[in-house]
Amino acid sequence: MQYSVIVCPKCKEHAQIIESGIKSTVCQRCGSRLDVRKLKIWHTTPNLSDAVSVRTEILMEMDQGPIISDQ
Ligand SMILES: [Zn+2]
Repeated sequence: MQYSVIVCPKCKEHAQIIESGIKSTVCQRCGSRLDVRKLKIWHTTPNLSDAVSVRTEILMEMDQGPIISDQ
């Protein structure tokens, strides 16, 4: 099992951990359906605690300001 860390491109306020290989997921914060193939994968790891720490780092960076811009 691989875990990927993604950031919701809709609300840009939520990073979550998904199982690598799934096609879509739902943002746990804003409820948007997300097409994983179109998302930036911030980190992929087989180690869940590693994924959790990367997610925490991203959330802390988000507190400083937006980390992804509109395109
Ligand atoms: Zn969202």
